[in-house]
Amino acid sequence: MRCVPRHLVSIADLERGEIVQILDRGDRYRALADEPIKKLTSLRGRTVINMFFESSTRTRTSFEIAAKRLSAEAINIGGAATSTSKGETLLDTAENLEAMYPDAIVVRHSFGGAAAMLARAARCAVINAGDGQHEHPTQALLDAATIRRAKGGVEGLEVAIVGDIAHSRVARSNILCLAKLGARVRLVAPWTLIPRGIEEIGGEETRARVRIATRLEAGLDGADVVMMLRVQHERFAGEAPRFPNTRELSRTFGLSERSLRFAKADAIVMHPGPINRGVELSPEVADGPRAVILQQVSWGVAIRMAVLERAILGDLPAEGERA
Ligand code: ASP
Repeated sequence: MRCVPRHLVSIADLERGEIVQILDRGDRYRALADEPIKKLTSLRGRTVINMFFESSTRTRTSFEIAAKRLSAEAINIGGAATSTSKGETLLDTAENLEAMYPDAIVVRHSFGGAAAMLARAARCAVINAGDGQHEHPTQALLDAATIRRAKGGVEGLEVAIVGDIAHSRVARSNILCLAKLGARVRLVAPWTLIPRGIEEIGGEETRARVRIATRLEAGLDGADVVMMLRVQHERFAGEAPRFPNTRELSRTFGLSERSLRFAKADAIVMHPGPINRGVELSPEVADGPRAVILQQVSWGVAIRMAVLERAILGDLPAEGERA
């Protein structure tokens, strides 16, 4: 049987209501993680191919666990182990895999646009697990789930996203997702790490909700959520330097117990991982009581279960919970 091609390439593809449906379904699956037996059968007999051409710890593992918890077959391929290293194009690789009738292909690639390209060509569902600097939609969804649980909702919150905004697909997906859910977003970084016009990526929806702060103190002032980003050195090749050195960036934009005081007293601290300890985040904050970083990882499995179900089985029913 042909699967329903319900791709997830960008958060921009989702209406607010669809995001809430995914978060609600994720809530249910998050609760399942505390049960001794975590397996459901909704994707029994289905096949999910995880195709990762960039390194990944959390995303790849959690997509695999998510597929298996729903009883799907999960196959992982990537990098040097695929024929792209023999000169095959990504599209040809994907077409060959599709000839084996998977129900969904989860793809991570360094080329921004890779997932969209596959989605245009594929008959099965394509899920973007990170495409270059473009988007990482499931990260934004699991971040929204984490915030919703920690803060009781997302609407009206002040969220500071701090660090290498320029190279961050996590930032772009979060801007779109948080704006759709009614939060206000501050992008906090030196000018050289903030792409011109980024406030406009979601049109009026983001223009009205995103502002820029080029000083940490101003950016964190009154923030409910502080989301720290890693400097994505792997994406700097061929670029003029954007800041004098990492130590200076860390001193001016890194989060320590001292700089966290600029945010609200009950602000939570998030990070998509991998953390560079002592650079964007001090170990005391990373391991401290305000950090919800490992909760984010747990939500990753639950949200990816919901995303896989939606991709393969179709729209999730509304469960009446608020964002
Ligand atoms: N894990 C995230 C990503 O794949 C963030 C990072 O690598 O810094 O984009």
